[in-house]
Amino acid sequence: METAEIARRFLNFFEKNGHTVVPSASLVAEDPTLLLVPAGMVPFKPYFLGQRTPPWETATSVQKCIRTIDIEEVGKTSRHATFFQMMGNFSFGDYFKEKAIPLAWELVTSPVEEGGFGIDPEKLWVTVYLDDDEAAAIWRDKVGVRPERIQRMGMDENYWDMGVPGPCGPCSEIFYDRGPEYGVEGGPEADENRYVEIWNLVFMQYERGEGVGKDYPILGDLPQQNIDTGLGLERLAAVLQGVDNIYETDIIGRVLHRAAELTGTRYGDDPEQDVMLRVVADHVRSAVMLVGDGVKPGNEKAGYVLRRLLRRSVRNLRLLSGTDTAFLHELTAVSIDAMKDIYPDLADKAEIIHGVIDTEEQNFANTLRAGTALFGRAAERTKESGGSVFSGADAFQLHDTYGFPIDLTLEMAQEQGLSVDEGAFRDLMERQRQTAKADAKAKKLGNADLSLYSQMHEKAGDTDFLGYSDAESESHIR
Ligand code: ATP
Ligand code: MG
Ligand code: MG
Ligand code: MG
Repeated sequence: METAEIARRFLNFFEKNGHTVVPSASLVAEDPTLLLVPAGMVPFKPYFLGQRTPPWETATSVQKCIRTIDIEEVGKTSRHATFFQMMGNFSFGDYFKEKAIPLAWELVTSPVEEGGFGIDPEKLWVTVYLDDDEAAAIWRDKVGVRPERIQRMGMDENYWDMGVPGPCGPCSEIFYDRGPEYGVEGGPEADENRYVEIWNLVFMQYERGEGVGKDYPILGDLPQQNIDTGLGLERLAAVLQGVDNIYETDIIGRVLHRAAELTGTRYGDDPEQDVMLRVVADHVRSAVMLVGDGVKPGNEKAGYVLRRLLRRSVRNLRLLSGTDTAFLHELTAVSIDAMKDIYPDLADKAEIIHGVIDTEEQNFANTLRAGTALFGRAAERTKESGGSVFSGADAFQLHDTYGFPIDLTLEMAQEQGLSVDEGAFRDLMERQRQTAKADAKAKKLGNADLSLYSQMHEKAGDTDFLGYSDAESESHIR
């Protein structure tokens, strides 16, 4: 079943069951606590919190999502993309667990001829939150799932929140068993690679406050008990298309295979190259979708996410092909073509998308050309003196003069068998930031007319630094 058809079926099923179909919101979050939309419920958050009255009691959508937090998983696991689509059904104080659970099961298991996804119940497992006896009882008694197929998991797995203050609650998830060739028996508790999570049903009933990870206070009950679910479109496509992972599905797979052709590699020949091809296919698609929603490459926030995705694509393509040929134009075209069934606006925006991506590829090529010579000399010097650590001063100069993000330096150093003195690099960055701040302050004191400029400068200095440190904490790229 094609990806586009899966999305249509999902919406049809919930529309038939009384839900209003709501179009996807932009990837760029309106919510000031978020940069980009990581989940289908984000556009509905004010309704869950009772801040706004929803125009409908129940709704369904296929929401465009970006999760930069998963960037390191891309290509290595079978199931993590940076851009993906979350299909969901939502109840704002209408139905709760007793209806959400049977509805999900019906859609997943009912025959294809009857509008369902036709998955064999013998392939499915479910989880519930530790003390959620209610949900466990619904699975067992109302749906008829065998008790040994219902596993209980803790906060980390079965308690959902947005990662920022907002609605939260216990959840219950559906997993698909890919079979013994993918890992050990024993359900999702035993093996998350063999048993792949496809659908999360969240019982939104509490509001969480500030805190890191799962360490936050529960501020109280939400005004109503709500339902928020998320079924990964790409993950379901992989299951229904009988392929090994999401990168080989109809849409992402087209970019992957074209990337192999262009770089003269063969998918399936070499595990390391396979990861790179999957990364390219994923990142090009994510970049297309981000530019389509108006994001421009830059050094901070969403712009930096986009820049990083594009630069990682270019680096991987260079490593795969052993050349510095510009391939992004062609791969962008394939990605737009593959996605335009679901997002017809991409075809209208194709010229703009190409313009932005081509320019960024060109700029990055220039950055690489200019900085690579300096990098090479510094690496040579390090090795000649018998060292194995690329100095923080050199890394800083690459950053300052050529705009080399630290993750690029780290990655190129690694290829030369060198590590990088990141501590010294960071000290230099911090010193530069302090100097800029002091400069700005001095200007402000000396001339009142400059105060606005100083504020802007101060702010830009801060955010620029944050931009890179965000990226650094996302760890290092190939
Ligand atoms: P996992 O444990 O596999 O990382 P998750 O628990 O982080 O997934 P949820 O936050 O519950 O995922 O999101 C709901 C659904 O969205 C998931 O069940 C999955 O189908 C899909 N999904 C989540 N993250 C991704 C991703 N990076 N790429 C593709 N689909 C995803
Ligand atoms: Mg995850
Ligand atoms: Mg999970
Ligand atoms: Mg989950």
